[in-house]
Amino acid sequence: MSTLTRVALVTGAAQGIGRAISLRLAKDGFNVAVSDLPRSRSQLESLTQEIKGKGRQSTWVLADVTSEPDVKSLVEKVAGDLGSLDVFVANAGVCKAQSFLDTSVDDWENIFKVNGRGAFLSYKYAAQQMVAQGKGGRIIGASSVAGKRGEPFLAAYSASKFAVRGLTQAAALELGQYGITVNAYAPGAIDTPMLEGISSIAGTKDEFYAHEAKNTVLNRVGHVDDIAGLVSYLASPDASWVTGKEVPCSPDDLFTNTNTTFQVNR
Ligand code: NAD
Repeated sequence: MSTLTRVALVTGAAQGIGRAISLRLAKDGFNVAVSDLPRSRSQLESLTQEIKGKGRQSTWVLADVTSEPDVKSLVEKVAGDLGSLDVFVANAGVCKAQSFLDTSVDDWENIFKVNGRGAFLSYKYAAQQMVAQGKGGRIIGASSVAGKRGEPFLAAYSASKFAVRGLTQAAALELGQYGITVNAYAPGAIDTPMLEGISSIAGTKDEFYAHEAKNTVLNRVGHVDDIAGLVSYLASPDASWVTGKEVPCSPDDLFTNTNTTFQVNR
């Protein structure tokens, strides 16, 4: 890769894991473009200012990852404004917790639209830009422990994160010849607005978090910086020999059976 300041782009950057990844990559020396849905404009503006405060270049772009024209112009704008695209973190995702019996076709399609189609479009246009640049690159997606092992009450979400895993492996196989690595992070429960949003399935937030903590050998829910550190590594020169991997980032990966003894609200 070039010795010039490298450029990273993070989707779903307005909050949670994406925000932490953006700040970590800026700390690592990247110029960082951040993107999210139009409703998140003010969070993106202040995140950009925070990144610039670390002495990096930054820009924000409103884009819906389910829209092909949005993703295409997102990549073009970032490469145009910041001069390159070296790392694409396809972080945007949605989750809805519910029983399998209650999952509607609309729920299934909404989750697959963002987590499946959104990842596909992100990987595709990132790869096209990186191939055209001719200096390799890193594509990093958001899978989940639920993408390595089916999770109860997350049937559509689990299936969509298994899709990210297949996409990551297939893209890695085709893109290695261009010096592009493709990997995904596979977190367990991380304290973000997404996790809080699904906590009502098991009563209060505290009850749900305590339940999730018990399912890890470290007895705590993860912090966004736990994932940002992993992504920092995957984007670094040290990971140049790592591709096609979904890296677990959760101590609950050690358990073969998730404890699902809570009473589910329906
Ligand atoms: P979050 O809900 O806190 O943030 C997700 C961001 O994605 C939001 O800012 C949202 O606006 C954005 N987004 C949603 N739909 C979008 C779209 N169509 N286009 C562009 N942006 C869109 O979630 P998080 O917990 O920070 O999760 C980040 C990623 O990590 C997701 O892919 C999620 O599935 C995955 N993940 C999270 C956890 C966890 O426990 N938090 C665990 C495993 C995997």
